[in-house]
Amino acid sequence: MKLDLLAIAAHPDDVELTCGGTLLKMAQLGYKTGILDLTAGEMGTRGTPETRAKEAAKAAKLLRVSWRETLGVPDSDVQASRQHKLALAQVIRNLQPHAVILPYWEARHPDHYHASTLGYEGCFLAGLKQLPLDGEPFRPFKILYSISYADVRPTLVVDITAQFEQRRRAILAYGSQFLPKGAAKKSKVFLAIDRLEDEMNQLARHYGQKIGVKYGEPFLQKELMKVDDVVKLEVRSI
Ligand SMILES: [Zn+2]
Repeated sequence: MKLDLLAIAAHPDDVELTCGGTLLKMAQLGYKTGILDLTAGEMGTRGTPETRAKEAAKAAKLLRVSWRETLGVPDSDVQASRQHKLALAQVIRNLQPHAVILPYWEARHPDHYHASTLGYEGCFLAGLKQLPLDGEPFRPFKILYSISYADVRPTLVVDITAQFEQRRRAILAYGSQFLPKGAAKKSKVFLAIDRLEDEMNQLARHYGQKIGVKYGEPFLQKELMKVDDVVKLEVRSI
């Protein structure tokens, strides 16, 4: 299968939290999208691996992605090792995504910044002919970094106003992680989901406001934007 857009992140639910609206929007535009979870999130305290896999599949359906798999890197030990980079490069060759979304390269959680390096280097290696990989050498054309977890200024914001509600449903699909039942409702975990949802709403609202819409998802690209028509530039200045 060939993809137009592949989102790579450390744990299942990272993609939903950081770029779920964008993935859904691109699928609605007719693009083939996919998610590669580097780990199965097995270090999480809640939910069996089977439950979490079901939740990830449900979220993928809600975001209308065509492909979702786990690379098999150990949770809490994401490293840009040769072995993992080659495994990732093979996925890139198989799927040939035109664009890739990676986590930003600085983060609080080591898995998140290592995922960024592993993602970039895997994409690079996929283009080297002499490596022991199947298929033709291939590199994605564009790499975007999701900065939702990072406190840095994005270079572009995607309007996800129309996708916001469905993105929330995809996030809430991870019921075992976020929604304790019965007595557990009074636990700190319950507060955590309240706070998490609130943070995400605020973040999407904040970046939406910056581009003159209700909700937005922020990204950074290292390259400059090429523009042909400066008269039609979007987002009001004054
Ligand atoms: Zn994560």
